[in-house]
Amino acid sequence: MHTLLTNAPQVAAAFIRRGEVVAFPTETVFGVGADAFSEVAVRKIFAAKGRPADNPLIVHLADLDQLDRVAARVPEVAQRLIDAFFPGPLTLILPRHADVPRVVTGGLDTVGVRMPRHEVAEAFMRACGRPVAAPSANQSGRPSPTTWQAAYEDLEGRVACILQDDRTEAGLESTVVDCTGAAPLVLRPGAVSLERLQTVLPATRLADADAPDTARSPGTRYRHYAPRARVLLIDDPAEATPGQGSAYLGLHPPPELHAFRVHTLCQDVETYARELFHFFRRCDAAGIKAIYCEKVPPEGLGLALMDRLRRAAQG
Ligand code: AMP
Ligand code: MG
Repeated sequence: MHTLLTNAPQVAAAFIRRGEVVAFPTETVFGVGADAFSEVAVRKIFAAKGRPADNPLIVHLADLDQLDRVAARVPEVAQRLIDAFFPGPLTLILPRHADVPRVVTGGLDTVGVRMPRHEVAEAFMRACGRPVAAPSANQSGRPSPTTWQAAYEDLEGRVACILQDDRTEAGLESTVVDCTGAAPLVLRPGAVSLERLQTVLPATRLADADAPDTARSPGTRYRHYAPRARVLLIDDPAEATPGQGSAYLGLHPPPELHAFRVHTLCQDVETYARELFHFFRRCDAAGIKAIYCEKVPPEGLGLALMDRLRRAAQG
């Protein structure tokens, strides 16, 4: 399949309306989407990514009028979070509307819904004229794409079109919050911090990564975000071993920063989060064997960053 590269949201949206698959930018990472109501189109996403069928997709909305078409109802807690954080990098798990094919939700009776806060994404989705089901635009297991080039690297020849844009702003995926239980439950930490959610709904808590709760977010079971190189998490920059096969990413410099073949120092946790997946892909392109990543305190955005670092290090 030829993959068309375009800057025009309308051109990309025409492919969605024809039942094809398109990679597009959002404020978190690039997504790869299809008509959320078309089972045939959505299956093409799983095929393009090599994604396990039980890993659900997020349904993206251009505006809130579309919400009732994908969710059977909107619980009170969900409405509070919508009022506070939509549009934005927050995905809410809601009861699935019968019109949403089960292939979208990995067989679940719930559906993940979000409304991106991103000019190009919004123009694209408006032109699609329907909700767009989309996971991240990487090959399953690989680091999420934060540039259109990364999406091209993983999906060229496998999708009809890539909507080009600048590097994504957050660099990490959305926060996923289950709103179907008594209290909101964070299934995946992300760009909206737990602390910010708790300012709106103090009862919000974090799902225990090892508890049966995670059965509700099947995606978190899989190996994720991993570069080909080994990822080593360190508390102290001095623990990193410099060399031609080594890379360093962190907030503080190791003793011989320039002896690492690839290295980036980040001024804060936000920059670290934005750099992470891009840095992993740079390391793979350079043939790096070991990537040393400095740990950060698991608070604010640091919680999401540590989650991605841990999963990458498991790889
Ligand atoms: P991605 O956009 O690649 O991060 O993939 C979407 C992720 O959203 C999945 O891996 C799940 O973790 C989460 N998700 C989507 N829909 C649901 C759902 N119905 N229940 C629980 N988690 C979901
Ligand atoms: Mg993903």
